[in-house]
Amino acid sequence: MKDPIEQWVRPEIRALDSYPVPDAVGLLKLDAMENPYTWPDELRQAWLERLAGVDVNRYPDPQAQALKQRLRATMGIPAEAGLILGNGSDELIQMLAMTVASPTRTLLSVEPGFVMYRMIASFCGMRYLGVDLEANDFGLPLDALLAAIEQQQPPLIFLAYPNNPTGNLFREEALLRVIEAAPGLVVIDEAYTPFTDHSFLPRLGEHANLLVMRTVSKMGLAGLRLGYLAGPSPWLDQVEKLRLPYNINVLTQLSADFALQHLALFNQQTEQIRADRERLFAALKEIPGIRPYPSQANFILLRLTRRDAPAVFEGLKQAGILVKNLHGAHPLLAQCLRITVGTAQENAALLQALRELS
Ligand SMILES: *Cc1c(COP(=O)(O)O)cnc(C)c1O
Repeated sequence: MKDPIEQWVRPEIRALDSYPVPDAVGLLKLDAMENPYTWPDELRQAWLERLAGVDVNRYPDPQAQALKQRLRATMGIPAEAGLILGNGSDELIQMLAMTVASPTRTLLSVEPGFVMYRMIASFCGMRYLGVDLEANDFGLPLDALLAAIEQQQPPLIFLAYPNNPTGNLFREEALLRVIEAAPGLVVIDEAYTPFTDHSFLPRLGEHANLLVMRTVSKMGLAGLRLGYLAGPSPWLDQVEKLRLPYNINVLTQLSADFALQHLALFNQQTEQIRADRERLFAALKEIPGIRPYPSQANFILLRLTRRDAPAVFEGLKQAGILVKNLHGAHPLLAQCLRITVGTAQENAALLQALRELS
């Protein structure tokens, strides 16, 4: 008799590993691009008082009207643009893929890039093509991308701006060429928008196939799970049909709305992270055996030139510091680690450990 799991679970799902989240108990957590700062006691208290008034016996506002208005006002989303919220931007990627998926269609992105694009293409039963970035500087391989667009006619293209895990911004001119050449949607994933001055949001009205996706995760609200997608309403009206009812729970709606009323605090924290990123980059450059890559995000990709990255990763873990080992993830990431910018103290501990290990 055939194993029922083999018989019924789709082969592309059996072939997947589940998204690995390492155990970080007791470790200094510099692996997941979290904001290391918590809230002042006063603010926490005011938030708890608001939460105490929530009726959790009721479903949340299905349209999350108040939160959407707050996002429009605080994030500068053009009034004409449509807006959809997701349970993290991961859910938005999934809704977009489900909207266009078929076994013969391709979701196009670049490699190394954000792993969820590839995984969600598999979940949704569509093909995935990741075009390799330029080897020298992780730049956008424009010619190869245009050729892939021509050949595959992808309904959906994701490009992270800045890119994860490389941290760089692709050239704006090159991205515009991709948007113009694409037969379907191009999603500019601006997960790291608090850490750069560049954005495609102001260009939303200029291209009928451009969407901008963001998340509140990296600005300091990763626990809430809230992403947002802005773009032309004709497209978003279709995507909206795939949104599960009440996908943004009542605690997230209230908490995100509350937090965005105190945006100055988060801006202050992300400004601090940006300044510390530059200090960390300069210090990493001084360590023999380490080559850091410039970053416009809240993490830094680095390559070890004298030691094995997996060994340094383990050494850091022994020293109580968790980072992301990328060696083996893609040929362009050979001997690479990705470190999240932490507090000044955390960064100092990391630098100290790296000086001993590299
Ligand atoms: C972290 C990240 C996301 C996921 O954000 P969530 O809203 O937490 O799901 C999306 N895109 C990129 C490029 C990221 O690095």
